[in-house]
Amino acid sequence: MTGKHAKPSKRKSTAISTKVKQPTFPFPKSDQQRVELFAEITFKIRQSLQLKEILRTIVTEIQQVLQADRVLIYQVLPDGTGKPISEAVLPEYTAILGMEFPEEVFPTEYQQLYAKGRVRAVADVQDPQAEVAGCLLEFVEQFEVKAKLIVPILHSLNVHPPQTSPPQTAIWGLLIAHQCDQPRKWADFELELMQQLADQISIALAQGELWGQLETVVAERTAELQAVNSSLQQEIIDRQQIEIALRQSEEQLRLITNALPVLIAYVDDQECYQFNNQAYTDWLGKSLPKIHGVSMREVWGEDCYPRMQPHIHQALAGNVVTYENEIQLHDGTTRSVSVNYIPHIDGDERISGFFALTSDISDRKAIERMKDEFISVVSHELRTPLTSLHSALKILVTGRLGVLTKDGQQFLEIADENTERLVRLVNSVLDLQRIVSGAVTMEKQACTATELMIQAVDTMQAMAQQHEITLVNQPLDIQLWVDADYIVQALTNLISNAIKFSSPGGNVWLTVEPRAQPPAPPSKGRKSTKSKAAKVAELGAVPIEILFQVRDEGQGIPDNKLETIFERFQQVDSSDSRKKGGTGLGLTICRKIIEQHGGKIWVDSTLGAGSTFSFTLPRHEK
Ligand code: ADP
Repeated sequence: MTGKHAKPSKRKSTAISTKVKQPTFPFPKSDQQRVELFAEITFKIRQSLQLKEILRTIVTEIQQVLQADRVLIYQVLPDGTGKPISEAVLPEYTAILGMEFPEEVFPTEYQQLYAKGRVRAVADVQDPQAEVAGCLLEFVEQFEVKAKLIVPILHSLNVHPPQTSPPQTAIWGLLIAHQCDQPRKWADFELELMQQLADQISIALAQGELWGQLETVVAERTAELQAVNSSLQQEIIDRQQIEIALRQSEEQLRLITNALPVLIAYVDDQECYQFNNQAYTDWLGKSLPKIHGVSMREVWGEDCYPRMQPHIHQALAGNVVTYENEIQLHDGTTRSVSVNYIPHIDGDERISGFFALTSDISDRKAIERMKDEFISVVSHELRTPLTSLHSALKILVTGRLGVLTKDGQQFLEIADENTERLVRLVNSVLDLQRIVSGAVTMEKQACTATELMIQAVDTMQAMAQQHEITLVNQPLDIQLWVDADYIVQALTNLISNAIKFSSPGGNVWLTVEPRAQPPAPPSKGRKSTKSKAAKVAELGAVPIEILFQVRDEGQGIPDNKLETIFERFQQVDSSDSRKKGGTGLGLTICRKIIEQHGGKIWVDSTLGAGSTFSFTLPRHEK
């Protein structure tokens, strides 16, 4: 310990010569003995990894080897204060372990000297030559210090790799030996031993710090791994929960779909079943695993599949499809079904399959058939008396059998008009019934579109003139293979409607053209956007169907009626039948005729601007 006012010595090793007696301590005599002693102490130090333990071993060993009265390690704290943190002291002397000393006891200038490697050996603290500071004299007296030996414990500031600059040292503390019973001349070996052990402390400090840092890194890494581990655990739990939820929702879906008396399925883009509800087993008598992954062709067989195929292709082309079909069940019974295919368009806008819903409409169909038959029978029974009634009225209206009063004549004309309507209705019902029931077969023959169009226009010319409508016929000599009478009936029906729903002075066009492409499925109010060039290009290609169109500039049809007007007794305005003399059956008959020819019929219209009725017929294959 140095005094505050003591002049610091620049000597590296200062063995002060005083009038003290030479010591009688048992020093190791030879260098060999000294080396062995140092190795022994170093070995003991390395027994422990704990700094506290190392410091304790050092002070105890020094105290024993030097037979000093007190050996201590004084740690200098960052604020300049300090305290002994390890001590070996003979029982008869006061222990100073743990006492705190103010900064004045070890001022900064002394710290700097020791940091440069200064050691201090004072043989007799009372000797004025020793230059022990005044403030320290009090201390040495209090703790009975007669001689002292002080070496610095240095601490490297940049011991850790990578080292970019030479190591810098700072004072960490002091290793101090006290002789308390009498002054003592310290031997060079003792100084050397103290220095070497102070170095050992420095190494232990650096290692301790490295160890601490390693522990921090390990702790950080462990914490990181624990965080990753716990997030993985959470992910596993989440996945398990998702799987459970999925299983539950799948079970629920199965429960619901199995409870429904309809066929529900999902079909992939290879036409193979990927999901089927229980009804498939009930209807087809095949277990679900025998259907799963199997193609529709295999499941339904060659009897039924060809009727489904075009609709499947439509669905896989991205169209919603609705159609009716007849299917045979495993018990041999036949069912009428209504089928819906809804395309499944995935996230990449790709059609990856379709959902199929098939419902049994056998009962509805049976009732419809009964109703049709009933209407047909009634109409048939009505026709004969109606015809004679109609003929009789016609004769009466001429006045040949007597002239009625003006009112009487008016009533007679109303009766004649309505009987005529009734005759038309009965004829239409019977017509439709015959076509639908298959009682009539289309007797197809070769003819040209021109022939049919001229015939239809000629038939309607009188009506057109009566309504002041100009019929514009644009025929083309295209070969057809059709039942000419029925196609003329369809054309006259459409022309008659066009005339009825146009205002006087309007035009009605009748056109025909070959088409290379099948028409896109009809959409409400859709306008043809095809350019002339595209049409010409189509004509260049092999036409696969013929398109007829009847276009008017009449009142038009609202969007929500574009589909329904093709159904029986459906009219845009229920008063149309009275005002225009219609029956609401004309378009239904047209549709049946066209469908019997393998074609399609639809309408595009703009309210107030007019309508275009279009139908296609397959090309004449000869
Ligand atoms: P109707 O005998 O009543 O004409 P249709 O089946 O031929 O029966 O037509 C059904 C309904 O469709 C008509 O009542 C009318 O409301 C509508 N309709 C048909 N053609 C046209 C048209 N060219 N313009 C406007 N509405 C039409």
